[in-house]
Amino acid sequence: MSDKIPLAGVIGSPIAHSRSPQLQRHWLVTHGLAGHYIPMDVKASDLADAIRMLPKLGFVGVNVTIPHKESVLDIADLVTDRATMIGAANTLIFRADGKIHADNTDGYGFLENLKTGAPDWKPSQAPAAVLGAGGAARAVVAALLDAGVPEVQIANRTQIRADRLAEDLGHRVRVVDWVHAPNMLDDASLLVNTTSLGMVGKADLRVPLDGLRAEMVVTDLVYTPLKTKLLEAAEAAGCVTVDGLGMLLHQAVPGFERWFGVRPTVDSAARAAALR
Ligand code: NAP
Repeated sequence: MSDKIPLAGVIGSPIAHSRSPQLQRHWLVTHGLAGHYIPMDVKASDLADAIRMLPKLGFVGVNVTIPHKESVLDIADLVTDRATMIGAANTLIFRADGKIHADNTDGYGFLENLKTGAPDWKPSQAPAAVLGAGGAARAVVAALLDAGVPEVQIANRTQIRADRLAEDLGHRVRVVDWVHAPNMLDDASLLVNTTSLGMVGKADLRVPLDGLRAEMVVTDLVYTPLKTKLLEAAEAAGCVTVDGLGMLLHQAVPGFERWFGVRPTVDSAARAAALR
């Protein structure tokens, strides 16, 4: 064991909006741990140099966010199978042997959030409908397939991106044309928005939602605002709704545990800290 105070942080650009520092600092204080968690705005052209320098400065790992989640895979020495399959990493661990280990915990965070917010949802019962085919969608679809969902239907504005996702993640993924996205609601028990639509400063999600049924679970990865228009419409239709903040909290757990040696708890205090 080293007597150095461990450092961790989050790398992105821009980074000022990140809620990870408040959350990780809350966990450090709650668990009485020595450590610091620092937001770092790093440009793409500096990414490799910055990451290779961090272990020498006392960093034990970092979270990685937009726009670096894909490019860190080329910098890491070891990439987990799930990060390879997703094509992106959000958590780096700087190992004692000098190797940089990359993992993706977004799918884990997504499923834990769903299990907590919709405990009665049974993955194997019915297909799931996913809007979007970006980096977050890949993590979500991989997690849903792992959880035993019989079929994941995806619709994305740019269909080729959805086709690529389906090719990479296997035969249980079915691509639906973006204009026919509402048809996915016919037999799905879960609807997930993984697009950035509905986020503060972005366009609204305009997919017609008349097909929502009260027995469905609806979750949105967007958490600014916390209650998106999609979640409002789902609530009005009697669905169980799960907001996206819980995913942010749960995806942070494995990194914190690896860096600081304690598994933190996702509870109302952690939620409040992330919202501060
Ligand atoms: P990304 O790779 O850039 O993907 C963005 C997705 O949104 C794509 O499917 C894109 O479709 C779609 N989109 C954007 N503008 C659109 C428009 N005007 N009309 C239709 N579709 C549009 O981003 P990402 O990393 O997947 O993140 C997506 C969202 O999830 C973001 O809001 C992010 O903050 C959120 N997120 C939340 C968590 C959490 O912990 N809650 C974790 C990760 C991500 P095209 O392919 O057609 O462009």
